[in-house]
Amino acid sequence: MPHVVPAFDRIGEENAFAVLARAGALAAEGRDIVNLGIGQPDMPTPAHIVEAGIKALRDGHHGYTPAVGILPLREAVAADILRRHQVTVSPDSVMIVPGGKVTMFMAILMFGEPGVEILYPDPGFPIYRSMIEFTGATPVPVPIREENGFAFSAEETLALLTPKTRLLIVNSPANPTGGVTPKAEIDALVAGLAAHPDLAVMSDEIYGTMTYDEEQHHSLLKYDEIRDRLIYLDGASKTYAMTGWRLGWSVWPKKLYEAARKLAVNAHSCVNASTQWAGVAALNGPQDCVAEMVAEFDKRRKIVVDGLNALPNVSCISPKGAFYAFPNVSKTGWKAKKLASALLEDAGVAVIGGPDFGVCAEGYIRLSYANSAENIRRALERINDFLSQAR
Ligand code: PLP
Repeated sequence: MPHVVPAFDRIGEENAFAVLARAGALAAEGRDIVNLGIGQPDMPTPAHIVEAGIKALRDGHHGYTPAVGILPLREAVAADILRRHQVTVSPDSVMIVPGGKVTMFMAILMFGEPGVEILYPDPGFPIYRSMIEFTGATPVPVPIREENGFAFSAEETLALLTPKTRLLIVNSPANPTGGVTPKAEIDALVAGLAAHPDLAVMSDEIYGTMTYDEEQHHSLLKYDEIRDRLIYLDGASKTYAMTGWRLGWSVWPKKLYEAARKLAVNAHSCVNASTQWAGVAALNGPQDCVAEMVAEFDKRRKIVVDGLNALPNVSCISPKGAFYAFPNVSKTGWKAKKLASALLEDAGVAVIGGPDFGVCAEGYIRLSYANSAENIRRALERINDFLSQAR
């Protein structure tokens, strides 16, 4: 038997992909499945972005690019950051990567090793914990609480820091909760980090364009005092409906940038060239497509939240960002993962059980409202029938 290193016994995955596969298998058997499981916009990539990708291929962009990405795209990322966050970053601190995940992969590899601790949001994107465990570091969950609007608590986060903590992962707007951490809480968090000058921070802001009501996304890039230890993660997947193109970007402090570049050279060489040119068109082109998508998600958000709160024994706070609702189902009498599985198998609705997002997430399920209003209504009717009968 080939001898795979034990780290691979510790690596996890995203159950959303398993649910997607199971939903696909059921659909192939002829079942009518409504998929509120996977977190990707259901809209196509805007046409001008697709055209730019095609044109790049026609224009002969077929070869390797610099590992850190083409300069026009790094400049476009810097311009996007200035436009959205009013912060100046050098294109030389921007790295183009094949999807948001690759930034977290690099950052966690850079800081994780046995004996150190890495703090991550829980419930949170499952890959954080999976990667931390892969490195042998100790994953320390930062509880993200419903009673706190699913925002980070600065006090609770800071209380978990120890001399062994090397990296803090922050995510707002958040998957799977839709929580947005308000500016005051981020101010308090950053102020507290002054006492931990060696701690690196990775801020996952991949849903940064998606906030609702009066809520404003507040980037950690705005804090000069942590810029020399902040890794900023963003990408095109969610904002421009480009999940399959595999395009992400990050901003690194100078002393970490070179390490990330070497990792890119070792791992993927570069992001495919036509995708990078499509990214230039996405960031430099008209932004009304983003506003339109966000407005559409907002409409669906209201449908999903009202529908969930009308279900027996279910309650759902209104998510302030991203495109997920994270209802509390603890009073239904179901364990969350069992409920998710029964909803898929018996009611034909794909959702994800809270525990797939962490050890602090029993009693919740995640619904992605990146699906049509009609499908969301159908899903809610089915869940209602299911819960009413199963009582
Ligand atoms: N970060 C969060 C919080 C996410 O939810 C996701 C995708 O679902 C990612 C990062 C990864 O995005 P990408 O598909 O660009 O790798």
